Amino acid sequence: MACDFLSSVTDREFFKRLVAKSERGRLPLIGQWELTCRCNLHCIHCYTDVYNHPQYFPKELQTEEVLRILGELHKGGCLWLTLTGGEIFMRKDFFQIYKVAKDKGFLITLFTNGSLITEEVSDFLKENPPFSVEISLHATSKEIFEKVTQGEGSFQKVLRAINLLLERNLHLVLKVTGLTVNRDEILKIRAFVKGLGNVSFKFGEEIRNRLDGSEDVFEYQLSEKELREIEEKDPQMLREKEIQLREAETYQCESGFFNFHIDAYGMLQLCSGNRMKGYDLRKGSFHDGFYNHLPHFPCRFPKKEFMFKKNGFIPIKAVSSTP
Ligand code: SF4
Repeated sequence: MACDFLSSVTDREFFKRLVAKSERGRLPLIGQWELTCRCNLHCIHCYTDVYNHPQYFPKELQTEEVLRILGELHKGGCLWLTLTGGEIFMRKDFFQIYKVAKDKGFLITLFTNGSLITEEVSDFLKENPPFSVEISLHATSKEIFEKVTQGEGSFQKVLRAINLLLERNLHLVLKVTGLTVNRDEILKIRAFVKGLGNVSFKFGEEIRNRLDGSEDVFEYQLSEKELREIEEKDPQMLREKEIQLREAETYQCESGFFNFHIDAYGMLQLCSGNRMKGYDLRKGSFHDGFYNHLPHFPCRFPKKEFMFKKNGFIPIKAVSSTP
């Protein structure tokens, strides 16, 4: 039977009702959790790969720690949870973690390189469907794809994963970061994704420094001009870019209000792009970290306090800016 209540509540109304229950205008609704830096590939632009070495693995959160924190996120009201890596399927306990998260009712997005998605894994996901699976498709040619991943055979494995997930009608997003080595592939990837039908496409323009701070990765960054040249060849990409630019003018970062990030070692941070400061979830509770520490973490984007009013949310004061 159709649920009349759900179909009659708009996204905005739903969000308003949730935030009305929040503490101090904050609610940890949306989390991203980097479960591991381990990965079977070594993409040239990867920021976690610097910690993809055995000496760092024992430092990552252990199963019982992950499960304890998951319970705290659930209790805290987190609804949308993205599990990422590294490569999530490199964790031996991934299915256990995922199952617990599913049973708690999180809407889970999985970021994966796709190369470890076998028939068995896709059957498991069919039985326990995530909200979405996002896979990086770096190129439509094996040669360029594997130039990016540095993993022989990875192209075929990722194509297999895409087919397996589509056969099981799972919601799939294919994404690509524009790099000097795949710049001529971007529009081909977009066309390939369009041809698949009901699959979303995301184009990432920026790469970021590696987690140890090294910046060698920027040798692969496309210039603003090169990015525009790609987008101008595709009217839809151009339209999307224009919308993004318009939105950027009024952008308010909600990290620390509704969003948060956790790294592989249990540090709670504002977002994956800002790890200047972290709160150690091994030593304290998620509630303490989110409400008492995150609001004071430095951020280069201005943030606004949100206050609920009958006509919506209005900003009341800026609480942090570039340190
Ligand atoms: S697949 Fe992802 S985590 Fe693995 S090396 Fe590539 S970018 Fe890094």
